Amino acid sequence: MRILVANDDGIFSPGIKALAFALRELAEVNVVAPDVEQSGVGHSITFRRPLRFKHTASAGFGEIPAYRVDGTPADCVVLGSRLLGWPDLVVSGINIGVNMGLDLTHSGTVAAALEGASMGIPSIAFSLDASGEELRFEEAAQYAVLIARWVMRHGLPRKTLLNVNFPNQTPRGFRITRLSTHRYEDTIVEREDPEGRPYYWVAGKPTAELEEGTDFWAVQQGYISVTPVTLDYTNHAFARELEQKFRV
Ligand code: MN
Repeated sequence: MRILVANDDGIFSPGIKALAFALRELAEVNVVAPDVEQSGVGHSITFRRPLRFKHTASAGFGEIPAYRVDGTPADCVVLGSRLLGWPDLVVSGINIGVNMGLDLTHSGTVAAALEGASMGIPSIAFSLDASGEELRFEEAAQYAVLIARWVMRHGLPRKTLLNVNFPNQTPRGFRITRLSTHRYEDTIVEREDPEGRPYYWVAGKPTAELEEGTDFWAVQQGYISVTPVTLDYTNHAFARELEQKFRV
């Protein structure tokens, strides 16, 4: 059995190290990660320029084969699967910070798992609530092993991945959740560069909405949130409705 480990925080992130080392007890592990941070790039694929795929001894993975790519998280999964042997499982993370609700549309962490799922490989994205005092990656990685073991044993439906978020405390257990529909209240911060020209930071705070049963709610309550996510974007019910009434 072979597991491919990717992320979007880059190959030097402590989150991917904890995950890769913990998963060794389940299978042969290969690490393929971006050479610099790629948070927020979503499911971008690099196809207008060549990519480098370099073995990296200096990133602290010891015996685990680790490669860095000058591309996106999805690039890492595409290259890693083809160059290092087809994986039985793709995992991504552990991301520094949660990926919940509409975060999934720009998360590079989740995109790596989406890429794996679209290739027909069972895939899991892992993220950790980074709002606490310390980042408990080793502890989260132990729970990640339990989830990965379950998935390797039972598989996942076609075009479906698991999106997992860890709380910033010792977890109270697992909750199967749905994605919350929180959105960000965008704030634009305007500053001035040394020449006096304006530049902008796009920032945002999630609007608080703690509906029971959502990923946000579970993590807030101290649970590990496990959301099954499908690649199928079609609103099937509305498609049937449209068929009846769409006349232009
Ligand atoms: Mn990230």
